[in-house]
Amino acid sequence: MGSADVAAQSQRVKAFSGARVIDGTDRTPIDNATILVRDGKIAEIGPAARITVPSGAERIPLAGKSVIPGIVNAHGHVGDTVGLQGNRYSAENVVRDLRLYADYGVTTVVSLGGDQAPSFAARDSQRTATLDRARIFAAGPVLEPKSADEARKLVADDQTMKVDIVKIRVDDNLGSTTKMAPEIYRAVIDEAHKRGLRVAVHLFYLADAKALLEAGADFIAHSVRDTDVDEEVIGALKRRNVCYCPTLTREVSTFVYASEPPFFSDPLFLKYQDAQTIAALKEPSRQDAMRKSASAQRYKVALDVASKNLKKLSDAGVTIAMGTDSGAPAGRFQGYFELMEMEMYQRAGLTPKQVLAASTRDAASCQKIGGEVGTLERGKWADFVALDADPLADIANVKKIDSVWIAGNRVKR
Ligand SMILES: [Zn+2]
Repeated sequence: MGSADVAAQSQRVKAFSGARVIDGTDRTPIDNATILVRDGKIAEIGPAARITVPSGAERIPLAGKSVIPGIVNAHGHVGDTVGLQGNRYSAENVVRDLRLYADYGVTTVVSLGGDQAPSFAARDSQRTATLDRARIFAAGPVLEPKSADEARKLVADDQTMKVDIVKIRVDDNLGSTTKMAPEIYRAVIDEAHKRGLRVAVHLFYLADAKALLEAGADFIAHSVRDTDVDEEVIGALKRRNVCYCPTLTREVSTFVYASEPPFFSDPLFLKYQDAQTIAALKEPSRQDAMRKSASAQRYKVALDVASKNLKKLSDAGVTIAMGTDSGAPAGRFQGYFELMEMEMYQRAGLTPKQVLAASTRDAASCQKIGGEVGTLERGKWADFVALDADPLADIANVKKIDSVWIAGNRVKR
């Protein structure tokens, strides 16, 4: 290698220095850390005294900041799969949403349903050192087979589409629709497993959670919200280490717009969210309809049940994967709702450290992307957030964002 080549290579090295790094593993935070980034990935990470910064590296000072791994949302929706004005899914909207997530430090999102070719194209082009938007992994359409045969065909289609996970809904929407029959979801799960695919399930009821776990479900995409979780379901979750994704802010979105919610005056919310959507949610007729909505009141009760269940499951050692259901439908604000979701876990009784683990390492490992993201370790993408305050003192400090970095690139925000 000539000296010009050596110089060109060291140009691509970035050295972030001086921050207190919470790397997302169980290791104690590293004070005055250095993170060396080469070609978008972490080449070295540790105390400054132990790391040699190559001459010619670009130096980025982060003294006084707390650095955490980029936040991973294990259940979102991308590209306007179900917009306020109906389905407007498009490639442009996929990229727009991935930028919006990144504005809030959510650097990876697993889109659980409604995705089409543009989502997969975005995923397949993101393993590059020039990335500056959130990473995406995705399910295909939410499968709605009417027979076991159709179930197997739809799973085959999912595989052709190269989905990261299969998604189904087993819910009657508070008694208003027909629930997918057990023989059909069993066919989905069986066919998926035969093809080496995993299945994420939308559910509401404890009894369905038990039956779905028995059938082999791999990821619980919402809270059990009808009643308290029990030893039986805890045992079933732990036996196969099936992760549980609370999506508490999903419930919030169903009733909170009966009046103007406090976050409508948070500058961090207003800075990046769509003004038209906010205006629509402030319309008196819309607020009135939500105030009178019976389902809104029931989901409000369901949120209390869900919060209690989260604490109980976390205490029992079930792996929690932070997820929100943001992005579908409107009123579930991408990026901001993940930070709100994290605060809600703390309010439910989890420690800041537990909330952070659920929102980084565990969300990633639950979605089988822990080899690339979720912790700050050698060989993983340099996706991280620099904060102005310590998130381990209060998880609400994840809102005090100094800067967001994806593949070592500063997100313009
Ligand atoms: Zn969803």
